[in-house]
Amino acid sequence: MPEHAGGRATLAVLGAGPKGLAIAAKHAALARAGRDVPDLLLIDGAGIAANWSGDAGYTDGRQRLSTPPEKDVGFPYAHAWGEYSERVNHEVSRWSWQSYLVHHDGFADWVDRGRPRPTHRQWSQYLRWVASRIPVEPILAVVDGIDLAGGRWRLTARTPAGVRLDLDCDGLVVTGRTRQDALAHAGPVEVCVIGNGETAGSITTALLDVLPEGSTIELVSETGTLYTRGESFIENRFYSDPALGWRHLAERHRREFLKRTDRGVFSVQVEDVLNQAEAVRTVAGRVVRLEPVENKVIVEVDYEQERERIAFDWVVVAVGFDPMWFSQLLGARARAALADTAGGRATGDGAAAGRLPSRASLERVIGHDLAVEGLHPRLHLPVLAGVAQGPGFPNLSCLGLLADRVLGAYTAPPAGAGAPAVGETAVPGHGR
Ligand SMILES: Cc1cc2nc3c(=O)[nH]c(=O)nc-3n(C[C@H](O)[C@H](O)[C@H](O)COP(=O)(O)OP(=O)(O)OC[C@H]3O[C@@H](n4cnc5c(N)ncnc54)[C@H](O)[C@@H]3O)c2cc1C
Repeated sequence: MPEHAGGRATLAVLGAGPKGLAIAAKHAALARAGRDVPDLLLIDGAGIAANWSGDAGYTDGRQRLSTPPEKDVGFPYAHAWGEYSERVNHEVSRWSWQSYLVHHDGFADWVDRGRPRPTHRQWSQYLRWVASRIPVEPILAVVDGIDLAGGRWRLTARTPAGVRLDLDCDGLVVTGRTRQDALAHAGPVEVCVIGNGETAGSITTALLDVLPEGSTIELVSETGTLYTRGESFIENRFYSDPALGWRHLAERHRREFLKRTDRGVFSVQVEDVLNQAEAVRTVAGRVVRLEPVENKVIVEVDYEQERERIAFDWVVVAVGFDPMWFSQLLGARARAALADTAGGRATGDGAAAGRLPSRASLERVIGHDLAVEGLHPRLHLPVLAGVAQGPGFPNLSCLGLLADRVLGAYTAPPAGAGAPAVGETAVPGHGR
């Protein structure tokens, strides 16, 4: 376990969303099971599960989760901790979705209603309940810089009261963030939604509820088609348990799988709503320009080198995640270290050293612990771990396994115990 001069290692998690809470819950469970755990810092500029509540972030809170809620902070409750697995899973299951419902006397009601997916707001309430049950006190501050100082990560942050904080740590996990900009205009309306992923789907279904009759929504995407996410057993299995052969697939097949099941696809629930919506149409092409003209926005769409200009009242840019968002926060030393470890090796091109690696290059060098291989202190980037480690790590599909992988890098077995740390667990054919 890496240790700084003062004693125990410190792991910082940027973001108190589902991933941050899954790590905090597993951390608490491991401590209760008697394992030696690192100190944990959970930092969020907007509070716990802020992106899901409807008060901040990217949803009004009324949309439904597309993942089943049983994929909670402990899912898939894998036996990742040797002889401690049962105890650890038992501890985490105290903060499961089912325990939450039982605690609020809502379990029978939920089962009898056919186990509906919760709304984003209900999901945020569950996550806040988890936070209230475990010994974690998120630091409310916006991180505006990440750099290396004295062989550790140094995060600089600002609290809502304007107080500057320097937070040092031995390992850093960067969690999700969505880029979603909206150009809004008044009036009953012709709307353009740019994008064909879950963000565009959620926005379109929300708009269908609020737009006046006669309004239209045009979904502009490169393919012009609305694909439904694959939900077969084999597909879902890779999300829950990538050890079952994910790394045996060729990289091109892994990327194809992600495209087909995760990126640029709608959930079955969203597709069901859109199938019934006569107001929704699709346009094929890449948006190359947005231009305000009087009280309209002109959207210029390029498809097979033909340009079309279409006027809308509202335009919503819903192109989803920028998994490289954290790169804007990196200071000079952090950028150089990332370029040195991942840049040259990932591209196989020494000349690339010094430049930040591209997304595709970085995706190739994410290790078993979901961190950039060879970079110390560790930088865990689950949001980029889909290609190398498993399709569920960037999203909500295997939050418990994500926490196992990250914490395994810091959690030593008690003296004399034989259980391996998760990062050292040998998965045949999949080891680091
Ligand atoms: C509308 C919508 C619906 C979705 N539905 C699903 C779904 O059903 N299933 C699924 O698997 N995925 C879904 N996704 C994808 C989903 O966003 C990710 O799976 C999810 O956000 C991962 O959780 P997280 O903990 O990584 O990030 P988040 O929940 O986004 O948490 C990140 C946190 O970091 C904080 N933060 C960001 N920047 C800073 C900073 N500089 N300083 C301090 N704090 C910061 C934010 O305040 C936020 O609370 C959906 C996405 C969208 C947009």
